[in-house]
Amino acid sequence: MKLAELIATAVAKGIDVKALELKRTKKGEFSKTRQNEKIVERAISGDTAPPKRSQGMNWIRKDKRLSIYIRDGFACPYCGSTIEDGITLSLDHIIPYSHGGSNNEGNLITCCGKCNSARQDRPLGEFVEKAAGFYEFDAEKMMRYIEGQTQKKLAPFRKEAKEMIARRGSYTAVLENRRNKMM
Ligand SMILES: [Zn+2]
Repeated sequence: MKLAELIATAVAKGIDVKALELKRTKKGEFSKTRQNEKIVERAISGDTAPPKRSQGMNWIRKDKRLSIYIRDGFACPYCGSTIEDGITLSLDHIIPYSHGGSNNEGNLITCCGKCNSARQDRPLGEFVEKAAGFYEFDAEKMMRYIEGQTQKKLAPFRKEAKEMIARRGSYTAVLENRRNKMM
């Protein structure tokens, strides 16, 4: 698709095209470059355009994010809640990002917003001990589960995530449908 058509598609989907910060010509029009087309294509497919400098959580593309949620059964390993229980899903870095942990799937586990903010930058083992004590879980089992999940190959889940996004129209719609048990 050409840039103009892509932008029209994006607008029809309610995407804020301005926020995509496309390159412009001197006249102020969007440059008809392949790079601009790619940015819009990514936005349409539900992926976040990678930011230029910051490397935080938002950098993780939506299909990757979703594939990790699928891998982990849309559940938080620390408190045991699932998306159907109404939790907000997020990704927790096994080795905290601030301690040099990467955004590689082997370093990411699905987690609820509450547990994520409770953990902060605590070492995993320490937090698991705490959570296990609080929820009366077996800390060793929790650690083994997390280890097992993060060692799984992501490719099949990624394929599933992309299919789900295509079927539902967007990443957000997939999560909402899941939350409402409509899937
Ligand atoms: Zn939790």
